[in-house]
Amino acid sequence: MAVQPVLPEATTQLWGQVLTAVQNRLETQQAFDTWLKPIVPLTLSPQLVELEVPNTFFVDWIHQYHLRSLRQSLAEVLGTEPEIRFTARESAPAAAETRLPPATPREPAPAKPPRGDRAWLDSRLNPRLRFENFVVGGSNTFANAACRAVADRPGGAYNPLFIFAGPGLGKTHLLHAIGHSVRESRPTARVYYVSAERFTNEMIYAIQHAQTLAFRNKYRNVDVLLIDDIQFLAGKESTQEEFFHTFNALRDAHKQMVVTADKAPKDIPMLEERLVSRFNQGLVTDMKQPDLETRLAILKNLCEQDSEGVKLPDDVLLLIADRIRNNVRDLEGCLVRVFALGSLLHQEITMPLAEEVLQHYVNPEPDRMAPERILSATAERFGVRIEAMCGQRRTQSIALPRQVAMYLIRQLTDLSLVEIGRLFGGRDHTTVMYACERVSSLMAGDLVIADKVNGLVSTLSSG
Ligand code: ADP
Ligand code: MG
Repeated sequence: MAVQPVLPEATTQLWGQVLTAVQNRLETQQAFDTWLKPIVPLTLSPQLVELEVPNTFFVDWIHQYHLRSLRQSLAEVLGTEPEIRFTARESAPAAAETRLPPATPREPAPAKPPRGDRAWLDSRLNPRLRFENFVVGGSNTFANAACRAVADRPGGAYNPLFIFAGPGLGKTHLLHAIGHSVRESRPTARVYYVSAERFTNEMIYAIQHAQTLAFRNKYRNVDVLLIDDIQFLAGKESTQEEFFHTFNALRDAHKQMVVTADKAPKDIPMLEERLVSRFNQGLVTDMKQPDLETRLAILKNLCEQDSEGVKLPDDVLLLIADRIRNNVRDLEGCLVRVFALGSLLHQEITMPLAEEVLQHYVNPEPDRMAPERILSATAERFGVRIEAMCGQRRTQSIALPRQVAMYLIRQLTDLSLVEIGRLFGGRDHTTVMYACERVSSLMAGDLVIADKVNGLVSTLSSG
């Protein structure tokens, strides 16, 4: 293709065209204003596009959500598929540049020994996704330990290791972490990370271009295969067939496989029985939603990762951790957004600003269970008055029902700790947190209380 090199003077104009094309692809103007507008094009050539963004958060965010639109738009305007590089304006030198591989595989990489030519392997592992950055809490202790064990001894005890969890709970993170860890301790090991979607696309490409042998060689000659989101294969019979043979070849050679999915093997629809049983022969483990403490730790960890050491007030962090409960990706997204808005608007990050951002993330389920109902049911069950529960008295006879009510409101509504505290005569959120912990541990050790609380839950849920 004869493409003229782009002249520097044309950069601004061309970039304007790219932006217009991206804008047409994005769902909201706000996404565009927040993430695309601040980009400064440094180089805009048919082979290489270098873009400067305000900080490393942008690199991640664009990488995760807007890269496809950006690539398509660049292809549209430049007529080529250039390599895209991001430079963060404010960041530690080591993290200053993220290289991204070209959009489409021109050729599936040939199956040759990786020594001396690791680029195609490296390009798949996101440098940020390491064990060191993975926050471990009750919800993921076991999965994390299993991944570490596999990384220490690939092909050893757990093969395959199958991890399932809902979206945004760290599956991809753990796969990349295993990849980095193995590559560091065994530099010659052939580690390959691939999404099931990409596996499928490569297979189709290979069939269309008479390269199935190369495709098979590539996948059957790795030491560690990290395959993400296997549920993508649901209903795709020929890909499942191919994967089945890859799986057997690797297992027979005692090569490690780690597989992730959004569900347990048996619950993935239209997944062949023989694959399900292969997966079940290894170790199957899940990850749950992180608890408040873990969510808070994840936010703090993210703040530390930023080289500038973004300082967000503790109450803002707690607010975010408290509201966004079931998806770490949203948790991060919200933090990034709060931070980006603060820096774009040159505003201090306050509770009201954070509240505003949170509205985009939390769909309130209004009146899913009105707190008043919980208060009155609890009061009735314990034979106390609602006003007393919400009042200031601290006697033991009123303290327990009050704590149970706090616990139940916490469990059954979307109210935040701060809001619950307000319901109970302006008590501090830490009091609410303590109440929830106390009731949990009482329930664990005291059957009478457990019965009472569980009875309340079922009465309330059936009403
Ligand atoms: P999944 O693949 O399960 O959908 P990801 O692994 O992509 O989720 O995680 C979504 C985001 O949340 C990533 O940026 C990841 O780094 C982050 N994340 C998830 N769990 C954790 C955790 N326990 N500690 C730190 N970051 C996490
Ligand atoms: Mg994932």
